[in-house]
Amino acid sequence: MAETADVVVIGGGVIGTSIAWALTTAGVKRVVLLEKGALASGASGRSSALVRMHYTNEEDARLAWASYPLFRDWPERMGGPPVFTRTGFLAVVGPGDAAALRRNVDMLRGIGIDTVALTPAELKVLQPFVTSTTSAPPPTSRPAATPARPRWSRASGARRRPAARGSASGPR
Ligand SMILES: Cc1cc2nc3c(=O)[nH]c(=O)nc-3n(C[C@H](O)[C@H](O)[C@H](O)COP(=O)(O)OP(=O)(O)OC[C@H]3O[C@@H](n4cnc5c(N)ncnc54)[C@H](O)[C@@H]3O)c2cc1C
Repeated sequence: MAETADVVVIGGGVIGTSIAWALTTAGVKRVVLLEKGALASGASGRSSALVRMHYTNEEDARLAWASYPLFRDWPERMGGPPVFTRTGFLAVVGPGDAAALRRNVDMLRGIGIDTVALTPAELKVLQPFVTSTTSAPPPTSRPAATPARPRWSRASGARRRPAARGSASGPR
């Protein structure tokens, strides 16, 4: 295990590995990622793996939108096979939430996310099997997709090191 480092990142979930990758990509030479168990052994490994753009607060939406190219262009940016399937995303709300939904869609469109509010009739065209009994406009948010499990990045030059029993270790 490395004795010294420029930056030590603790936690090998999606956040820690992303930080380590971003640092090395930005040119930081000695980044050590410490993981007490296995990579993605926390919430990241239990995620439904849905990458969506439809969030109700702008900060989350901006983060998701900024990360989207990384998932979309995974083979070019990270190496290895694609981990991402573009599926589209559909959320449906009741009449009481229609106005809030339209404001939400306006906010998302304002930051560049390709999303629209549909009428029930438009939804029927898009998804004929859906039966809508209200006049609420459901939104669709594109893009959304599902990534496969995380993997070590060849692009970052990360090297995997075995964990020592009783202590944390990670790539140098
Ligand atoms: C059932 C479920 C479904 C989900 N579905 C989605 C989804 O579809 N889409 C989505 O965007 N989000 C989803 N999420 C949320 C998402 O999974 C989490 O927001 C995300 O994984 C959090 O990542 P993290 O890196 O912060 O934490 P974690 O993945 O929990 O990683 C933290 C890591 O730190 C390690 N660690 C902790 N303490 C130490 C220490 N002292 N030393 C060394 N290592 C340490 C842990 O072992 C762990 O591996 C879902 C979550 C759950 C539980």
